[in-house]
Amino acid sequence: MSEEVTYSGRYTADSREQLLAKIAKQLKPARFAHVQRVEQTAVKLAKQYGVEVEKASIAGLVHDYAKQRPDEDFIAAIHHYQLDPDLVNWNNAIWHGLVGAELIKAELGIADEDILDAVRYHTTGNRYMTKLAQIIYMADYIEPARDFDGVEKARLLTSQNLELAVAYQTKHTLLYLLENNQRIYPKTIETYNAWVPQSGLKD
Ligand code: GDP
Ligand code: FE
Ligand code: FE
Repeated sequence: MSEEVTYSGRYTADSREQLLAKIAKQLKPARFAHVQRVEQTAVKLAKQYGVEVEKASIAGLVHDYAKQRPDEDFIAAIHHYQLDPDLVNWNNAIWHGLVGAELIKAELGIADEDILDAVRYHTTGNRYMTKLAQIIYMADYIEPARDFDGVEKARLLTSQNLELAVAYQTKHTLLYLLENNQRIYPKTIETYNAWVPQSGLKD
């Protein structure tokens, strides 16, 4: 059963329906469907882990808001907002969260730093992640349409121990990137060092 959160006006002036309409204009149908599944997954986790459901709904819906923007928009934002200059050497995978958060703030008027940080860190993780950020990181990884080796383990861990689940995703994403000879964004390594070695993770 789908969860329809009623917004209070504290984090966005839009109703959920108005926010959905703005997001729909930015995304192709498959990506729009994904963000709604991430929202539903995040809302369930927020209830389980005592996080504000409205924040989980908004963060889930906006997390990939910038995913289909042209590279020029990100380059311009990196300069305009004086973000880490090294970001220009990366690509959409790294930009859509870390830089996308600034576009969400400017274009949707969402200024809550907890929501924005959850967007910023949804791809690479971060040393410090609030419970909301951990929920969005995991919801993106385990939403119902995700299908990869290990997703059932990730779902089980997420339902049992959120921090261990963050460690699991962090390790397995890094392994995947290494196996495919991908560049590793430094924050991805920082997240690994902060979350995995002392986590007690077994696999
Ligand atoms: P999505 O936006 O819902 O598709 O999911 P994500 O935002 O989590 O991931 C976007 C892509 O970024 C995935 O293909 C990840 O494998 C990739 N990614 C995550 N960390 C890194 C990294 O450190 N380096 C590179 N090159 N790609 C990464
Ligand atoms: Fe993403
Ligand atoms: Fe996503």
